[in-house]
Amino acid sequence: MATVASVSLPAFVQLPQYDRTALASRIVHLGFGAFHRAHQALLTDRVLNQSGGDWGIAEISLFSGDIMMQALREQDHLFTVLEKGPDGNQPIVIGAVNECLNAKLDGIEAIIEKFCEPQVAIASLTITEKGYCIDPATGKLDIANSRIVHDLANPHEPHSAPGLLVEALYRRRARGLPPFTVLSCDNIPENGHIVKHAVLGMAKKRDSALADWIEQHVTFPSTMVDRIVPAATEESLKEIADLLGVPDPCAISCEPFIQWVVEDNFVAGRPQWESAGVQMVSDVLPWEEMKLRMLNGSHSFLAWLGYVAGYPYVNECMEDAAFRTAALKLMLEEQAPTLRITGVDLADYASQLITRFSNPALHHRTWQIAMDGSQKLPQRMLDSIRWHLNQGTPWPCLALGVAGWMRFVSGVDDAGKSIEVKDPLADIIQQKVQQSTMENRVAALLSLTAIFGDDLANNAEFTRRIEQAWQLLASKGAHGAVAALLAGD
Ligand code: NAD
Repeated sequence: MATVASVSLPAFVQLPQYDRTALASRIVHLGFGAFHRAHQALLTDRVLNQSGGDWGIAEISLFSGDIMMQALREQDHLFTVLEKGPDGNQPIVIGAVNECLNAKLDGIEAIIEKFCEPQVAIASLTITEKGYCIDPATGKLDIANSRIVHDLANPHEPHSAPGLLVEALYRRRARGLPPFTVLSCDNIPENGHIVKHAVLGMAKKRDSALADWIEQHVTFPSTMVDRIVPAATEESLKEIADLLGVPDPCAISCEPFIQWVVEDNFVAGRPQWESAGVQMVSDVLPWEEMKLRMLNGSHSFLAWLGYVAGYPYVNECMEDAAFRTAALKLMLEEQAPTLRITGVDLADYASQLITRFSNPALHHRTWQIAMDGSQKLPQRMLDSIRWHLNQGTPWPCLALGVAGWMRFVSGVDDAGKSIEVKDPLADIIQQKVQQSTMENRVAALLSLTAIFGDDLANNAEFTRRIEQAWQLLASKGAHGAVAALLAGD
C-alpha cells in the first residue's frame, strides 16, 4: 500500500532535510499520542533540519491496543503534522522518529532493554496525568493503584510508566551504564517533581540503594508545553490524505502556535532545542502556572460549561459572546493575579489565547478537554481558588467552572442528553452522583478529598460559593449562568 514514505509528495509539503540514517535512539519516548507528534517530535525535527545530528526518537507504547505503532513502521516512521491557521495550512513530514516498540508487538522485555541502550540520554513522557499513578491530592505515588500494586509484586515485568522507568534505571545501574534524564512533557504543574516522586516512590519500595543512586544521578527537569493539538478524527485524517495524495494514519492536525519552556538540567546531553525556538530556563514553575491557570483553566471552564450548554467544539463556544467574555474575565481577573511570572504581558497573553481558542480551522472537542477532570481541577482551578480564599478576593468564574465540572460529571446536559464521563475516578464519582440528589450533589462531590483535599472540602466559604454557582447553573442552565456571571448576578 502507498504510504508517505513510498510516494513523492506535493512540493508544498515540508520534508526532512537531513540524513535519517544518522539517527540513533538517543531519546526514548513513552506516549506517541496526538500532542507529542505535533510538539516534541516536531521541535526535534526542526533542530535536525537546521543542523543534522543523531538525536532520533524511539517511540514506546505500553498499551496493547495501540495500533498506531504498526502503521508507523509501515511508513518508515515518517508521519505528517498539519499546522492549521487563519492564514492557511502547512503540512510537515516529521523524520525524527527512527523506531517504535509496542508492548503487544514486541513485549515488555524489548521495551525495557530499549531504555537500557548505552546511547539513550533522555526518557521523555506524554502519558497524561493519570499515567504517573500519583494521588492528585498528595502528589505522592498512589500505592493502591492497580498497576503499581502489580509492578511492586513483579518489578521485572512492569505495567506502569513509573515501574518501567525504575526497572530500566535498575538495569542501567547494575550494568554500570550512565543514567538518563527523565523529561515529563505532560500538562501538570512541576511535572518534573511529579515524575520524580513517582519514580523515587517506586524505587524506594524496591531498594533504597537504587533510590539513592537515582536521586544522585538522574535529573527530572520540569517543562511547560503549549500547542493545541485536537485528537485526530476521520475528518482530520481525510483532510490530510487529500492534501498529501496518500493516507497517513499517524497524521495529526494542530494550531500554528507552539511554545516549550524547559528547565535546563540534563545529565547526558540534549538536542540544541533552543535553535528551534525552545526557551531553556532555570525555573519553569512560573511559566507552568501561567499556562495551566490562564490557558488550561479557561479551556476547562469552556469545556465543562460549553459541553453542558450544547457546544461540541471550543471555537463554537468562542462565537458565543457570553462565553468569550467570561473566558477573558476568568483569565484576567481570577487567574492572572495569582501568578508570579515577571516580564510577560498577561493582558496580551490572554488576548492571544482568545484568538487561539477561536481558530475556526481547529475542531477541538469540548468533550476531549472535559475528560479526566478529577486530575485537572486541582492545578487548573483549585490552586487559584486557594489563593483567593487566602487573599479574601472574589472568584465567581472559578466557582462556576467547578460547578460546571459537577454538572458535567452528573451526566446529563442542558438538553437532557446523557454525557459519557471518562475519568480515572469515574467509579467513585458515579457513586457520589447516584447516591445524591440535585439538592445535595455539591456536598457529595466535595467529599472527594482526592480532588478537593481536606482543606477545601471543609472550608465553609468554599462550599457556600460552589453551592451558589451550582444553584445558578440549575436555575439558568450553562449558557444562562455564564451570562448571569457577567451581569454580576
Ligand atoms: P493522547 O490521548 O493522544 O495520548 C496519550 C498517550 O499516553 C497515548 O500514547 C497513550 O498510549 C499514553 N498513555 C495513556 N495512559 C497511559 C498510562 N497509564 N501509562 C502509559 N502511557 C499512557 O493525548 P495527548 O493529547 O497526546 O496528550 C498527552 C499529554 O499532553 C497530556 O498530558 C496533555 O495534557 C498534554 N498536552 C496536550 C495538548 C493537546 O492539545 N493535545 C496540549 C498541551 C499538553
